[in-house]
Amino acid sequence: MLLDVGDSRRLRFLAIGGIGSLVVGGAAMAFALETSPQTQQGPGAGTLPPASVATAGQGGTPAPAGPAPGPPTAPRALNVVVLDPAHGGTDPGARGTGGIQESEITLEFATRARQALEQQGFQVVETRQGNENPSFDDRSAIANAQRGAVFITLHIASTGIPGTVRVYVNADLPPVKAANGLIPWDLAQAPFLGLSRKLGDLVQGMLTQHFKGSPDAAQTAAIRQLRTTAAPAIAVEVSSVVVNDRAELDHMVPGVADAIARGVAAFKPLYAMALPSGALP
Ligand SMILES: [Zn+2]
Repeated sequence: MLLDVGDSRRLRFLAIGGIGSLVVGGAAMAFALETSPQTQQGPGAGTLPPASVATAGQGGTPAPAGPAPGPPTAPRALNVVVLDPAHGGTDPGARGTGGIQESEITLEFATRARQALEQQGFQVVETRQGNENPSFDDRSAIANAQRGAVFITLHIASTGIPGTVRVYVNADLPPVKAANGLIPWDLAQAPFLGLSRKLGDLVQGMLTQHFKGSPDAAQTAAIRQLRTTAAPAIAVEVSSVVVNDRAELDHMVPGVADAIARGVAAFKPLYAMALPSGALP
């Protein structure tokens, strides 16, 4: 299941091209709302981030001015895929008959997707590898600390036709004015929406080859996890936990992994093309 978020804004900023995040002030409460009415999110959703302060661009090599900060010797080719097995810990996510928990199944999908992506030559970072439950902001922070990365959050739906898979991209966000090289944390996805749509369409196309009845193109929705992620970012949602036998989901794991890996590989040249235009902060 995917989580929406209210129109909250926090006084937290992300350094463009940055290494980590910079908290410059207090934070207002952010809150998550369910997009689907059938399940309740645990109390951990949308709570405040830890009040940690990380300096951005102040350690090591100074970042040059301009639209593409960062060490000039560091290529920004797409090398890293951050995989986010959604939910975990006290948040099992969607639950189906027979004890199926979304948080467990997403780990299974992530493990196989990691293998497929590594075979394509990508470095893979996972936001969790066990039954932890990092916050939304923790997961975004992992992605935002990478260079040359895309972010893929994996979900199992409680709705939809079993055996189909949908890709979501975050809905339009207000344009951001990157004053002083900082963009609001809650709008971190805004500069990447165009690339996210391209990535989403490519991955969805590969998924639809495997899973008939899936959509032809990525869909848009307000998704809490994607909104704070400063990289091309998509959500992949498999249907569904409402299957009679977990084996029905297990059988989908190789196809989903293959589709993600091939979709990201197809996206890689588009990411490289976006670099000279300054489209990437
Ligand atoms: Zn979910």
